Amino acid sequence: MSELHLKDALDTLKSTGVRITPQRHAILEYLIDSMNHPTADDIYKSLEGKFPNMSVATVYNNLRVFREAGLVKELTYGDAASRFDFVTNDHYHMICQCCGKIVDFHYPGLDEVEHFASHVTGFKVNLHRLEVYGTCPDCNKTEEQHAN
Ligand SMILES: [Zn+2]
Ligand SMILES: [Zn+2]
Repeated sequence: MSELHLKDALDTLKSTGVRITPQRHAILEYLIDSMNHPTADDIYKSLEGKFPNMSVATVYNNLRVFREAGLVKELTYGDAASRFDFVTNDHYHMICQCCGKIVDFHYPGLDEVEHFASHVTGFKVNLHRLEVYGTCPDCNKTEEQHAN
């Protein structure tokens, strides 16, 4: 599954004329395999052993290249570090307010929100973003343990 995604992603990069360096390959692979919406810092930390000359700035630059090629979405949270998400298909995010974990979920009916929003406001819609906040099962467990 992830092999396919990686191959698709590399094909997309090639078709946009982006050179595929070993670092870019490794960052893409990390994004696809981890599925945990990492920050640039997370990616840097997990790959610095493999690429001693790589800096966080290099990771950022590569992520920007991926974003421009449409492979990666940048999720911004005010002053907090951006998270990066490999784009597979439209999905929404459930975010744990306790540990910051982001879990993907699908809810196809929400496509209609764009049509509706456009209809009632007259805007041309480019994107929408839905985030649901709560406490993840792991954090729930910890809380229960503390309560006992
Ligand atoms: Zn949590
Ligand atoms: Zn996601």
